[in-house]
Amino acid sequence: MGKIAFEEAFSAGEGIPDYVNPENFLDAGSTEPDYVSPDISQRLADLGAGRLAEMDAAGIDYLLLSLTAPGIQAITDPKRAVTLARLANDKACAAVAAHPTRFGGMAALPMQDPAAAVTELERCVNELGFPAVMLNGFTNIGDVETGWYYDHERYLPFWKRVEELGVPVYIHPRDPLPGASAAYEEHPELFGAVWTFTVEGATHALRLMTSGLFDKFPKLTIILGHLGETLPANMWRIEHRAAKMGKLVKAQKPLRHYLQNNFYVTTSGNFHTPTLNATMDELGSDRVLFSADYPYESMREAADWFDNAAINENDRAKIGYLNARRLFNLPEKIGKQA
Ligand code: MG
Repeated sequence: MGKIAFEEAFSAGEGIPDYVNPENFLDAGSTEPDYVSPDISQRLADLGAGRLAEMDAAGIDYLLLSLTAPGIQAITDPKRAVTLARLANDKACAAVAAHPTRFGGMAALPMQDPAAAVTELERCVNELGFPAVMLNGFTNIGDVETGWYYDHERYLPFWKRVEELGVPVYIHPRDPLPGASAAYEEHPELFGAVWTFTVEGATHALRLMTSGLFDKFPKLTIILGHLGETLPANMWRIEHRAAKMGKLVKAQKPLRHYLQNNFYVTTSGNFHTPTLNATMDELGSDRVLFSADYPYESMREAADWFDNAAINENDRAKIGYLNARRLFNLPEKIGKQA
């Protein structure tokens, strides 16, 4: 099956922070990731034959390259963030130019400087032809203890431009700020994809919803990985209780409206059919997209599960490539022909 995938990470080098090379990693809330096998670094850096062979083996026709977490978001100096975001995007662009029928790009943005983030967004969309943005969670600013979330009013011009350009923004999780990590004291095993990513990603999405951002910019599209960071399962209860919070919730509509109208979720790293079915029940199969979470997960494991999951063939085609083709405005020759 000619699937499309897009939580498929690469590393751009240059000391950009990632979870694989602890010496590059500035977030003191995390621990050395001893689960990472040495070849993950190689796979992250491979924008050619090795990655294409993995895609071929998994029936993935096309993928959008995204800078691995925490990436630009963990750079504390805004000027350096601006420089390295350009460099990472140029690197993705070169890989796309070398393999235009197999790769597309997602913009990495220096959210430490909201005006510069808009400039780089415009360059990525208008000049490099990237159809989406990948933000690796909140952005550090000044030091590792300080994080900016994207519901703040400093980002309103950014979101306005995102809506005008019509590009979806993927919010990939990262670990919490050191000051928000007390709950995990003496439990380093709960960091990362085991649990803290889920909490951090879901919280960031809820901040966007309750802030009223989607009332100001109703056409915004946010993508969450991992089948929605538990939000599809929890949304009824969140809305049920948020409705009793009065003016504390700035959003005008019931919160579930935003999850169902402003969000898409991907299957990245969450290859479980009952959870996929529950997610489709809550969001509809038009808002679920295939992804693997390579190289932290195996493209082949993701594909073996997805291609054989007990779902109907219409939903498999939508999730596998039709929804992504529509969302990213990809040409019909990309993904399996309908
Ligand atoms: Mg990931």
